[in-house]
Amino acid sequence: MRFKIQVVIENEHQQEQIQNIVCLEKGSHQGHCAGLSLIESKYILKELQQRIILHQAEDYTNSNMACPCCQKQRRIKGYNTMQYKTLFGTVVIPSLRLYECACSEEPAKIFSVLKSWLPEHISPELQYIETKWASYISYERTAALMQDVLPVHATQNAVTVRNHLHKVAKRQERELEGKPLCLSGCANDWAKLPKPDKPLTVGIDGGYVRSWRDKQTNFEVIVGKSFSKIKPSKRFGFVQVLDSKPQRRLLHLLNEQGMQANQQITFR
Ligand SMILES: [Zn+2]
Repeated sequence: MRFKIQVVIENEHQQEQIQNIVCLEKGSHQGHCAGLSLIESKYILKELQQRIILHQAEDYTNSNMACPCCQKQRRIKGYNTMQYKTLFGTVVIPSLRLYECACSEEPAKIFSVLKSWLPEHISPELQYIETKWASYISYERTAALMQDVLPVHATQNAVTVRNHLHKVAKRQERELEGKPLCLSGCANDWAKLPKPDKPLTVGIDGGYVRSWRDKQTNFEVIVGKSFSKIKPSKRFGFVQVLDSKPQRRLLHLLNEQGMQANQQITFR
């Protein structure tokens, strides 16, 4: 039996374009695997991702050739390529470079059209899965597991996972900068708030971890978990001697769980 997998691309004028993805020969005898194999599924995902992103990029480029102020076509400088890393493979996208329009403040400036659509060379979902898995298991196991089940780029390894996780962590740290350090208002204001939900419970514990660089030294890690009756639990952790804003971190976590200033919190 033969299974042909195609993608049908339909534009805004309802014109269709059909592209072949793969043709699979599948038997129904003993010894033949039922359904898709892991290799086939990875290949199909990768091919689909490639076709979809390339068409989206072409469409975005065509729609953004003109200057948004005066609607004149901007002059073409040339093409580069950009590598966009996703959970379903790395896609090499032709990237058009244009001169800024004469009506712009910097008419000689050259820019890539796709930059405003894809400001980063790595998809948010790839960063999310790498960061989530690497927070449970080692960087090396994360990279190996992803290689096992997803058509991620072959060069993805423990170092790239670590670099991406650190990038996400630094962004979260920057976001924490503007958050409040303590509860705002006073007890009189808090008394006027609506009746709060059930009490929040925060469990805190600590432990000593051996330093990776200097094996003779230890450092103390504080970890905790906040339990709410209405929202999923959240965890936090910090190294007391290094963290400059542990109070802000805990308050932000409790606020994310919908804590009200007049709500009872139990620390254990
Ligand atoms: Zn213009």
